[in-house]
Amino acid sequence: MVDKCCFCEKKYERESQNGEFVYKFNCPCCGQYSITREIIDDKIFDNTCLSANYKNPHYLSSNDRNIFSGVLQRRKDKQNGQTLICQEYNNTLPDYKQYTLENIKEEVERINNMTVMDKINEFIKYIAQNSQCLDYTVEYSYSEFSKFYCKEEREIRAILKHLEENKIITYTKEPEEPEQPRVVLTVSGWNKYEELRQINEKSKKVFVAMWFDSTMNNTYKAIQEACKECGFEADRVDKTEHNEKICDKIISKIKESRFIIADFTGQRGGVYYEAGFAQGLGLDVIWTCRSRKSDTDNLHFDTRQYNHVLWKNEEDLKIQLIDRIKATIK
Ligand SMILES: [Zn+2]
Repeated sequence: MVDKCCFCEKKYERESQNGEFVYKFNCPCCGQYSITREIIDDKIFDNTCLSANYKNPHYLSSNDRNIFSGVLQRRKDKQNGQTLICQEYNNTLPDYKQYTLENIKEEVERINNMTVMDKINEFIKYIAQNSQCLDYTVEYSYSEFSKFYCKEEREIRAILKHLEENKIITYTKEPEEPEQPRVVLTVSGWNKYEELRQINEKSKKVFVAMWFDSTMNNTYKAIQEACKECGFEADRVDKTEHNEKICDKIISKIKESRFIIADFTGQRGGVYYEAGFAQGLGLDVIWTCRSRKSDTDNLHFDTRQYNHVLWKNEEDLKIQLIDRIKATIK
C-alpha cells in the first residue's frame, strides 16, 4: 500500500497495520515515526497528511510540515530512537520522544526564529561533525534543505555559496550528480568550528541580563525557579559589578553560559549589549519583557523581530519561561 509522509510528503510503501493504537510511518527522508490513531481519527490528518484542513486549530502549512520534517531528519541522523506524535504526553511510553501538536508548533516557531547566521553556523557544525579527518569529503543532497533549517532549496544553495566564497568549504571535483555536492571543510572552516565549539554545550549555567532595581527582585526569583525546573542554574552579576558597565566578569560569565535570558523590562542599555554579545558568540538568547505597554512599546526596533516571552506577572513568567527553555535548549 502506497502512503505518503505527513511531513515531507514523499511516497513510500506501507505495510498494512490493524488494531494498533498508532500508525507507523517509514519515510525514506524523515525516517520512522508513529502517530496515534486518536490524531488520525480526529481528522487532524486528512489522507494521512497533517491537518490539511486550515480551520483546524492544529493546522500546519506545508512550510511548517517541511520544517518539522527537518526535525525528524536530524533525529534520524543521530539515531535518536523512536518518535511518537500524539495528542497528549503519554507517561507509559517514556522510551519514545513524544511531540504533541503544540510541541510541533513550538519547534516550527523556534526554527522560524533562527537567523541566517544561526543556519550558517549549524551547517559548519554539520560538515565538521560528519568529517572524520581533515580533507574528508562530506556528501549531502540539496533536497535535504529542511534538515539544515532552510525553507527552500535556494536557501541552502546560498549558504553553500557564502561558505565557499569565504573559504570555509571547498568542493571536491565536479560532482557527478550536481544535486549531491561533495564538500570539504578547509582549515579556516575547522577554525570557525572550534570557535563555535567554545560555546559550552555541557554548561548548566544561564546568564541573566536584566534591570537592577529592587522592583525586579521577584522577577529574578521567577527566572531562577524556571531555570532550576529545567535543570539549569541562573546567574547574574551583583549590582556593584553591574555599575562598572560591561566588565570582564560579565563577559566571562556570558562565555561560560549554556544560554542567556535577557529581560528588557525597564529598557536598560546593558541588557541590549549583553544579549548582542551572547548572540555574537552563537549562544541562544531567550528574550523576555513585561507585557506592560510602557515596556513593550519601547523595545528597540532591532530586537522586536525576536519572539519575546511577554509576561503579566512573575508566576506567568515562570510558566512561560519553562516552556521556552524546553523548546529552545536541546
Ligand atoms: Zn518524510
